[in-house]
Amino acid sequence: MISVKGLTKRFGANTVLDGIDLDIRSGERVAIIGPSGTGKSTLLRSLNFLEKPDEGMITIGPVTVDARRVRAAEELALRRQTSFVFQNYALFANMTARDNIAEGLITVRGWEKARAHARAEEILATIGLADKAQSYPAALSGGQQQRVGIGRAMAAEAEIMLIDEPTSALDPEWVDEVLQLLKRVADARQTMLIVTHEMQFARDIADRILFMDGGKIVEQGAPDAMFTDPKDPRTRAFLRKVL
Ligand code: ADP
Ligand code: MG
Repeated sequence: MISVKGLTKRFGANTVLDGIDLDIRSGERVAIIGPSGTGKSTLLRSLNFLEKPDEGMITIGPVTVDARRVRAAEELALRRQTSFVFQNYALFANMTARDNIAEGLITVRGWEKARAHARAEEILATIGLADKAQSYPAALSGGQQQRVGIGRAMAAEAEIMLIDEPTSALDPEWVDEVLQLLKRVADARQTMLIVTHEMQFARDIADRILFMDGGKIVEQGAPDAMFTDPKDPRTRAFLRKVL
């Protein structure tokens, strides 16, 4: 369902993604771990062209693009197959929680306002924030803001949810509620690719763990095998530090 071949991204002389190959089955939950600066965010952002990759083929659902000759309409078609959860929530400060969730449905998918608002209210109820529909982000806790960010991604019902360190900007007191919501999304077998430093969480929800270092997938496998018996010395060194 998702297939990536030879994905390469350079910033000047710095090769940040070095020919990434990756296939993800429908309903699979894949977690990416690895040191800072190794290209995890760039991988997620390249998959939906928030960052334009230099080379590589990306297939998500029915859409295939070749990074070297992609047109704007194809970028948009690919982006529609994805939803994104950002580290810093990336909510619109001037919009209510309901409108933050509805906005993409209206602008990216062309839904009527009334339908999008109704859907947003349904989602808010699902994520336990029905009473915050008319609240602006500044009036919400960090945990609530990120739950809105996740709700926005849920509303899109995209082929794959791309989630970049969803709890790393949160005060510790809000981490659990966000992980619990993501666990529900994972339990519903939403296909997801999640970058996280929450190792126990990754182990709980993922079907597969990828360890990235230096712009490459160094090692991958089932969570138990990766955490108890990593093969590559770089994986071992990383896990020794974080576990
Ligand atoms: P990670 O998410 O694994 O911490 P990133 O994907 O954010 O890593 O970054 C990988 C590398 O790419 C880093 O060396 C970072 O400095 C560089 N990088 C990321 N974004 C940009 C950018 N917009 N311009 C230049 N360099 C960037
Ligand atoms: Mg990152």
